[in-house]
Amino acid sequence: MDKNIGHWGHAPEISRVRHELRKRCLEVVSAIRLTPHMIRVTLTGPELEGFVSASPDDHIKIFIPGLDGALVRRDYTPRRYDPATRMLTLDFVNHEGGPAAAWARAARSGDRLDIGGPKGSQVIAGAVDRWLLIGDETALPAIGRRVEELPAQAHVTTVVAVPGPEDEQVFATSAHHQAHWVHRPMQQADDARGILAVLEKLTIPEGSFIWVGAEAHVAKAVRQYLVHDRGVPLPWIKASGYWVKGQADASVKDLAGEG
Ligand SMILES: Cc1cc2nc3c(=O)[nH]c(=O)nc-3n(C[C@H](O)[C@H](O)[C@H](O)COP(=O)(O)OP(=O)(O)OC[C@H]3O[C@@H](n4cnc5c(N)ncnc54)[C@H](O)[C@@H]3O)c2cc1C
Repeated sequence: MDKNIGHWGHAPEISRVRHELRKRCLEVVSAIRLTPHMIRVTLTGPELEGFVSASPDDHIKIFIPGLDGALVRRDYTPRRYDPATRMLTLDFVNHEGGPAAAWARAARSGDRLDIGGPKGSQVIAGAVDRWLLIGDETALPAIGRRVEELPAQAHVTTVVAVPGPEDEQVFATSAHHQAHWVHRPMQQADDARGILAVLEKLTIPEGSFIWVGAEAHVAKAVRQYLVHDRGVPLPWIKASGYWVKGQADASVKDLAGEG
């Protein structure tokens, strides 16, 4: 047996799909408080013609005024896109201090938003029967979309950290879904202990594909725990730091090079 893959076998292939990169000017249809710390903005417009988001963990760039009024860009997940109605849904974490979160708080029907991308998608090819999706509130759009898109035979476990019970979300899915929620204040979003405590009690069957998206220190700690303490082979993990506490416009999209 190949020492590097052990009993896990070969990990599913991740194929990279490129999309035509276009800037699109969209109009806000609605902006609602989905939960206390999540604002759901629905956008539409003829420029959504040809919009493609092939994977639940895709991201687009949104262009919004920064603190000095100059345009800045931030990464957001296409939570849902319906080509028939040309409605694109984005979920914004309602945190203090960033121009993107401030834009979402102020968004009203009729407002405009420029977006770019997705530039590409990383599509996990082949059937994966077991998923373990781990993250914080910034990863809820990607996690929710993945859970909703899974087929009935799939088993998915989610471990998500949010400030409190009222921030939990329910996903409509035909898959077998087991949800674990960790509650911690947003100020402690760089502390992995709550998520690790849940993971310590979980059985992780061989052949589970594990996806992690969270504040970068948390994503790194979770990845290290999975590899070093639980013996999960690296090709079965995809981990990203979706933001970095204390730094604006910062992410570590692929923690593979982080040891
Ligand atoms: C691939 C990818 C997909 C993403 N998808 C989403 C998504 O769908 N929804 C979403 O809300 N976010 C998502 N994010 C994270 C989002 O891009 C960052 O949180 C971004 O920094 C927010 O921009 P901002 O202008 O509000 O704050 P910034 O100006 O970037 O940061 C200002 C300050 O706020 C802090 N901060 C940033 N984000 C948070 C947070 N979530 N909680 C607490 N403090 C924070 C920063 O550390 C900094 O100190 C995604 C990131 C990546 C890489």
